[in-house]
Amino acid sequence: MTGMAAFEAAKMALFPHVTIWRSHAMTIAVSSIVSTLIAYLVLRRQSELLVSAFAEISKRKEAEDAVAEQVRLMTFSADVGLAITRSTDLRDMLQRCSEGAVRHLGAAFARIWTLNEAENVLELRASAGLHTHLNGPHGRVPVGKLKIGLIAQERQPHFTNQVIGDPRVGDQEWAKREGMVAFAGYPLIVEDRLVGVTAMFARRPLSDFTLKALAAVADGIALGIERKRAEEALRQSEERFRQLAENIREVFWMMDAKTHQVLYISPTYEDAWGRTCQSLYEEPLSWLEAILPEDREQANSFFERQIQGEQINSEYRIVRPDRSVRWIRDRAFPIRDYTGQLHRVVGIAEDITEHKHSEEELRRAKEAAEGASRAKSEFLANMSHEIRTPLNGIIGMTELALDTELTPEQGEYLAMVKSSAETLLMLVNDILDFSKIEADKLDLDQTDFNLRDSLGETMKTLAPRAHQKGLELSFGAPHEVPDGVRGDPTRLRQIILNLVGNAIKFTEQGEVTLRVETESKTEDEALLRFAVTDTGIGIAREKQQAIFEAFVQADGSTTRKFGGTGLGLAIVSQLVAMMGGRIWVESEAGRGSTFYFTARFGLPQGAPERVVPNEAASLCDLPVLVVDDNATNRRILEEILLRWRMKPALAEGGCTALAALEHASDLGCPF
Ligand code: ADP
Repeated sequence: MTGMAAFEAAKMALFPHVTIWRSHAMTIAVSSIVSTLIAYLVLRRQSELLVSAFAEISKRKEAEDAVAEQVRLMTFSADVGLAITRSTDLRDMLQRCSEGAVRHLGAAFARIWTLNEAENVLELRASAGLHTHLNGPHGRVPVGKLKIGLIAQERQPHFTNQVIGDPRVGDQEWAKREGMVAFAGYPLIVEDRLVGVTAMFARRPLSDFTLKALAAVADGIALGIERKRAEEALRQSEERFRQLAENIREVFWMMDAKTHQVLYISPTYEDAWGRTCQSLYEEPLSWLEAILPEDREQANSFFERQIQGEQINSEYRIVRPDRSVRWIRDRAFPIRDYTGQLHRVVGIAEDITEHKHSEEELRRAKEAAEGASRAKSEFLANMSHEIRTPLNGIIGMTELALDTELTPEQGEYLAMVKSSAETLLMLVNDILDFSKIEADKLDLDQTDFNLRDSLGETMKTLAPRAHQKGLELSFGAPHEVPDGVRGDPTRLRQIILNLVGNAIKFTEQGEVTLRVETESKTEDEALLRFAVTDTGIGIAREKQQAIFEAFVQADGSTTRKFGGTGLGLAIVSQLVAMMGGRIWVESEAGRGSTFYFTARFGLPQGAPERVVPNEAASLCDLPVLVVDDNATNRRILEEILLRWRMKPALAEGGCTALAALEHASDLGCPF
């Protein structure tokens, strides 16, 4: 194209509405200017196009970089996610996270510490990249120390893209040498609780985007730590449970309350039942099928109750495949969920066969021992009875002989015979009573009697003994103590005789008193409290309990000095217990004792009968039939009755007695 043509073309392109005047020279000049202009314009246009192309390229590069960074961060997050979900343990998980930071974020090295709460120290658990050791100065960092400890203490992240010059980065020399540019550290926090710290160094700056993503990943790691710790705690507790369940003798079992599926059975089941655990998992009710038919119904009903949520304690027998029979004790406990719904049933079953056998042996031995003891008591009771009969003969005959003409010497000897025989009789009576109580053969009478009269009479019989020793003997019962009571006057008399008798025996000077009081009273019953007080030798504190046991005396020397068997208080305490009361003593050695006992009495309606002593005038000439199989006893009684001027007839047994009665009535004799 010519210059002009180019000019025209350029003019038309740039200034289409302008008319341009032209000459030849001018045309040449203009044409060269225009050419230059066009060249300039073309160049400018081309450079504009070039600049815009360059801008386009760097924008695209930036975008590509951003995309690559996003991809790296996403891959890193995915790796951390996988580490949290797939890792076998906490350390493995943390190591994988650290390696992820090195691999995907270009970290020079990355580390993770967990908090040891007890010691308030951060413990290095994972390290990847430049350094992989876990010990050294950063192995244990106290909270508040070094930059890691400060991040933990302040619970604030710390990052910089100018490591050199950052006062928090302590080892500047190292940072320069290694060319470190950026640092990012984050506290690992779950629900306001610090669980650790993660940090990384990089040799190039870290973008805002990376820092934000790192913060999110730190939250994930914190959660992962928490989760792994919970898993570890669960695993440890499961391990402990498993060790416990599998190492004790008992069988542990756990069952779903609804489906009755066996959730756990400890291996000892195989020893106890002789069947495999697997068989129970497959057939959850097979344990019931092993139960002996006789025990199955009850076991079934217990099972029904236990799946309703009852706590059950049962015993049953099972038959093992080898046909041996074993006793099982099974205890079941309901487990409820937080709403109170029955969730599971757990239990402990144990083989108690040996225990049952020894229990049975023990029962047999006990029965045998009880039988032997009963036989011994019966023998003693019989023997005592047999001994009593001739003793009565000795005492009776001695009394009769004492009433005859005797030299003083004879009188003295016979009095000694009588006293010895009486002591022997007392002893035999005690043994008889004790044997009867032991053999459970002693019954209490229930008769109405006048309490004051009865106690008064008893005290009267003791008065001579007391007066012989120069002791005061007194008896008191306040007004509210009832007169008429229902009970056993003979046994009450025995108790009083024993206690007051002991009081006299163990007192050298002073007094002995009996006092009765009402402890409580209803319309038809009264609990009375009796107190026998003396000013005697007293009883040492450590002996005060033992003296109520059979054959125990407070002091061995008392036997020699005062006589006695040590049976009296044992009998008394049994009698008191039979009367619905208790006995105790308050005493001080050397200062006397008070024996207390309570006893329950019925309260009969109406006034009690007075005890009117029979006068011997009133017996004169009365016929009396004496029935006794013992000739000595018959002879003694005959003599005594004759002295009372009665008319005794003698019979040695039931038949003779009936014949004598018939004969007497034929004669019009009113027996
Ligand atoms: P015994 O009097 O026949 O030995 P007890 O069973 O009646 O048997 O008494 C047991 C022991 O209790 C007596 O030996 C004596 O040591 C002690 N004891 C009982 N009553 C008294 C008392 N009032 N004062 C001191 N000691 C007593």
